Amino acid sequence: MLKSLLSNFLHLIFPHNCEGCGTDILNDDSFLCAKCLNELPETGFVAAALNPLEKRFYGRIKVEQAGAGFYFSKDGLLQHLINQLKYKSNRQMGHYLGKLLGYQLLDTNRFNTVDALIPLPLNPKREAKRGYNQSQMICEGIVSVWKKPIINDAISRIIYTETQTNKNVSNRWDNVEQAFAVTDDSKIKGKHIILIDDVITTGASIEACGTALLKVAGLKLSVLSVGYTI
Ligand SMILES: [Zn+2]
Repeated sequence: MLKSLLSNFLHLIFPHNCEGCGTDILNDDSFLCAKCLNELPETGFVAAALNPLEKRFYGRIKVEQAGAGFYFSKDGLLQHLINQLKYKSNRQMGHYLGKLLGYQLLDTNRFNTVDALIPLPLNPKREAKRGYNQSQMICEGIVSVWKKPIINDAISRIIYTETQTNKNVSNRWDNVEQAFAVTDDSKIKGKHIILIDDVITTGASIEACGTALLKVAGLKLSVLSVGYTI
C-alpha cells in the first residue's frame, strides 16, 4: 500500500511513459509497455545455433556462439531506444536493453560456458564526450539478470597520434576506428569471453576487437548484441 502510494506520487513528479506509444501504464523500471515490448522484433538468435549472425563471422574470426536480441531497422522502435542510449544520455536505457538480453540468455544453455563479459571498447574521445560506454551499460543490465563478471580493463581502443599515421586519409580513419590492443591479458587468458556491442551491422568492429582478443593464449570468443541489422 505504502509502496504503491509512493510509486503513484513519484509518477506525478516524474512522469514515466512508454517510449513506443506514450502510455503511462508501465512498470517503473521499464521503458516499454507490455504491448510495445511484445512488438519489439525478437530474432531468436540467442537460443539458435548456426544463426545468421554466427554465419556473418564465418571465414573472418573464430566465434564460439553469437547472438543478437532484436532486429534493428531504420526508424524502427529499437532504433529509437538505441538513440536514447547513445545520443540522449539515457544510461538506464542500456540497463533496460541489457536486462532483456539477460532474460534471453537465461532461456538457453548455449552460453553457459562463458566466463565473463567484455563491453566493446569505445573510441576514448567518443567515450569522453558521451560520458560512458553504451556497451558497458548494456553489460551491467545483462549481469543484473545473468550473473557473470564484467571485465573492462583488459582491452582498449588505441589512440593514434598524427605522427604515427602516414597513410592516406581514408586508411588512417580505418586504423583509428578499428585498432584495438590487449592491455592486460592476465584476466582473460584461457577464458571464454563474450564481447558485447549495441548493434551489429557489418561486424567490422567486433572482428577487429575479436582478432586482438584471440591472440591471448587459450581465449575463446563469443559475441552478443542488442540489435542485428539485416
Ligand atoms: Zn507502448
